[in-house]
Amino acid sequence: MAAKEKYAEPTYLECGFGELEYKVIAPQICCRCGTCEALCPRIEHKNDKPALVNYDPLCGLCFAYCPRTFLDMSEMESELFGRTRNANDEPLGIFTKAVSAQSRARQDKAQDGGVATALLVHALESGAIDCAVVTARDDEWRTVARVATTADEIKDAAGTKYTISNSVFALKDAMESGYQKIGFVGTPCQIQALRKVQLLKEPYEVGQKRIALLVGLFCMENFDYNELMDGLVKGRFGLNPKDVARFEIKKGMFRAIDKAGKAHEVKIEETDAYTFKGCGPCFDFASELADISVGSVGSSDGWSTVLTRTNLGERLYASALAAGVVQEKAISEKGLALAKRLAGNKALRFESKSQEMNLSGILR
Ligand SMILES: Cc1cc2nc3c(=O)[nH]c(=O)nc-3n(C[C@H](O)[C@H](O)[C@H](O)COP(=O)(O)OP(=O)(O)OC[C@H]3O[C@@H](n4cnc5c(N)ncnc54)[C@H](O)[C@@H]3O)c2cc1C
Repeated sequence: MAAKEKYAEPTYLECGFGELEYKVIAPQICCRCGTCEALCPRIEHKNDKPALVNYDPLCGLCFAYCPRTFLDMSEMESELFGRTRNANDEPLGIFTKAVSAQSRARQDKAQDGGVATALLVHALESGAIDCAVVTARDDEWRTVARVATTADEIKDAAGTKYTISNSVFALKDAMESGYQKIGFVGTPCQIQALRKVQLLKEPYEVGQKRIALLVGLFCMENFDYNELMDGLVKGRFGLNPKDVARFEIKKGMFRAIDKAGKAHEVKIEETDAYTFKGCGPCFDFASELADISVGSVGSSDGWSTVLTRTNLGERLYASALAAGVVQEKAISEKGLALAKRLAGNKALRFESKSQEMNLSGILR
C-alpha cells in the first residue's frame, strides 16, 4: 500500500466519536451546541461536554453534523440562497432586508425589541411551526433548553443568557414527542449545525425534514457559566446570580442589573477570561445560515436589528408585520455599518485563531 493511501485521513463515514474527541472536543473547539447529543443515541452530555456512553459503530453522524468540522459556507449559501456571498461587501452574510423592529407586545423580559420571541409566537400561532426549541433559565441563570408549545412558554424564554447552552439537545425531545414542524432559536454555531443537518446530503435519516424554522441570534462570543458567575458576578460584582434581573452588553460594557435596578459593569475587554474557549474558532457573527437573524447592534435601545435571509424568513417577517405583531423603522446607515464592522472583526479573529490553533482543514 502506498504511504499516501496508508496514512490517508479517514472519510467522515469511517470516523466515530473518537475522531470528534480528538479533533474537536480535546482541542477545545467544541461549541457545546448539543447537536451530536441530540442526534446520536450513544452520545450524552456528561461533565458539561459530549460523552460516548455506548458502543461506537463509527457511523460518522456526530462528525458530519458538528458545526466545528468541515463547514462549506459556499455550498450551504448556494443551496439556501442560490448564490454565494460577495466576500468584499457582505460580512453579515446574505440577506434580503435589514431593518430595526420591535414587538408590539414587547415584554420586560425581552432582551432588545422582543422580535425573536414575537416571530416564534407568530410562527406557532399561524401554524408555520408546531413547537419551538427555546433557551430559558433557572433562577441562578443556568440555561434550560426546552420545547415550547404555547405562546406563554416561548415568552417565558425571552432574554439573553450569556452562557453556553447545548440547546440543540432539546431537539431530541421535540422529535421524540412527535412534533413535525420544529422551530429553533439560537446562536450562530447552533444554527450552523442545524442547517448542516438539513442541507447536507448525508446517508442519515434523523428527522431533518421536521426542522421548519431557524431564527438566528447575533453573537460575538459566549461565556462559560462557572467562569462568568464565579469570576465576574460573584467575584467582582459581589452579586448572587439569583439577584440578577438582567444581563446586557451595550456600548462596550458588560452589565448585570440587579433586582433593585442597580447596574454593575465592566469593560467588555475585561471579560475575556470568562469567554468560553470553544467560541474562539467561530467566524459567524450574524447567524448567516438562519432563515432570519435578530441582534441588538445597529438599533436603538428596545429595538432589534433584523435581517431576513431565506424566502421563509422573509414570509414570516412580512406576515408578522402585516398582522401588527411587530413594527419596524429604517435601520440607520451608521447602525448597519457597525454591525458589518463587528461581523468583519469576528471573521478576522477567526482567521488568526485558526492559524494559532492550526485548525486549517477542520473548520471551513
Ligand atoms: C450568547 C449570546 C451573545 C450575543 N451577542 C450579541 C452581540 O455580540 N451583538 C448583538 O447585537 N447581539 C448579540 N446577541 C443577541 C441579543 O442579545 C438578543 O438575543 C437579540 O438581539 C434578540 O433580542 P430580542 O429582544 O429580539 O430577543 P428575545 O425576544 O428576548 O428572545 C431571545 C431568545 O434568545 C434565546 N436565547 C437566550 N439565550 C440563549 C443562549 N445562551 N443560547 C441560545 N439561545 C438563547 C431564547 O430562547 C429567546 O427565545 C447575543 C445573544 C446571545 C444568546
